[in-house]
Amino acid sequence: MKQHISPDVVSWAFLISACGVDGQVKKALSYYEAMLGNDIQPDDKLYTSVLNACSHSGNIAEAEKLFKDMTTHGISPNAYHYTCLVDTYARAGKLDNAERVLLSMQEPHPVPWRALMGACRIHNDTIRAVRAATMLYKLDPEDASPYILLSNLYSANGNQEKSKQVVKLMEERRVKKPPGKSHIYVDGKLYSFTVDEQEYDFMERIHARLDKERARITEENGYIPDLSCVARDFSTNNEKVKYLWKHSEKLAIAWGMLNTPEGTTLSVTKDLRMCLDCHTATKLLSNHTTRKIKIRDASRWHTFENGRCSCGDLY
Ligand SMILES: [Zn+2]
Ligand SMILES: [Zn+2]
Repeated sequence: MKQHISPDVVSWAFLISACGVDGQVKKALSYYEAMLGNDIQPDDKLYTSVLNACSHSGNIAEAEKLFKDMTTHGISPNAYHYTCLVDTYARAGKLDNAERVLLSMQEPHPVPWRALMGACRIHNDTIRAVRAATMLYKLDPEDASPYILLSNLYSANGNQEKSKQVVKLMEERRVKKPPGKSHIYVDGKLYSFTVDEQEYDFMERIHARLDKERARITEENGYIPDLSCVARDFSTNNEKVKYLWKHSEKLAIAWGMLNTPEGTTLSVTKDLRMCLDCHTATKLLSNHTTRKIKIRDASRWHTFENGRCSCGDLY
């Protein structure tokens, strides 16, 4: 006799997550409704999946409804739920709403505030970034990322003076910038790269491969290096571009490309947030190949495929 097994909340969450990764928001929401229709009690992880799917579309009305639903089901929103909501607002350019909702949190948490900080960078909102950074200095005093992001934002807007002041403040408070390593497993062995890595004897090969890839994406996609991502002083733009292409995640990706056949997914982890240039370049590198490139940075997972990233450029 065939036994009918009905899916539990974990299976639903898995299904909804898969839709979210694929950007199929409507499908994710319809599964959510179907699950409720089957009298399955949702849990906090289920809401992370469905809110995450929602955040990819910037569907504010749905996200707000989900927040209400959660309360109805006796679940208090956690930091990750708030992060999804912030992302949803940010995607729609409503940073005001995002900030308001964060200020309403009874126990502020650094993760959603970091998401807002990232959104300020994307929307070039320096004034709000200052407020978000000030909050993060309090919530996570050891974290260098708000200092770095704010300093880069000032620099990108041509305010070098303010940019330097933020770096000075970081030094005065003895906040250490982590080395920003990227890691990749190749043939079961772990390789770690810092920016402008010198340790390995195969760096020449990596740089040669990256030169080739850079030429390809420039020609095929009109890639333009984002020089605002270079925090160091160089006298020429050419030197800046060269340094951008020594960023640790680019080195790790190239090492993965050199050692695995086309079609293999590359998985890189990075302990800092990716810069905007690495994000754009990786999207383009994933174009016209059958390769997926996955990068887990300090902020989230990014899955690059066919010239797009699963984060939808919010990171
Ligand atoms: Zn970078
Ligand atoms: Zn991304």
